Amino acid sequence: MECSKCKVAILNGDEREHKRKILCEDCYIDVLSPAKFCDPWADYAAKSFVEKNSNIAFSDNQSIIIKVLKEYGEVEPIILIDKLKDQISAEDGERECAALHRMGKITIENNDGKIILKLK
Ligand SMILES: [Zn+2]
Repeated sequence: MECSKCKVAILNGDEREHKRKILCEDCYIDVLSPAKFCDPWADYAAKSFVEKNSNIAFSDNQSIIIKVLKEYGEVEPIILIDKLKDQISAEDGERECAALHRMGKITIENNDGKIILKLK
């Protein structure tokens, strides 16, 4: 089996399917990036991420986000990004939140189209 994008050989069981195309894991993550809130692959990524990184140290940006969430409880992404605008770009903030979500540190809820971030 080979990746339909980069043509690398994929080991049995390591293939990912995206829009009916077989992709290797790297291309799959690539296709799904940049990280989005409430992305459907978060659960999958969370599992493999935690398995591969049992001793997780938070990055500085992640620590800042956790601090804000601790302080405010539930926060909309747009508000979080606004609070962090002097320290983290919106793009980085979104990526870090997605990473924290994958680690199982925060939850991302969709309440009738309103996205809410909070610590688990
Ligand atoms: Zn590939």
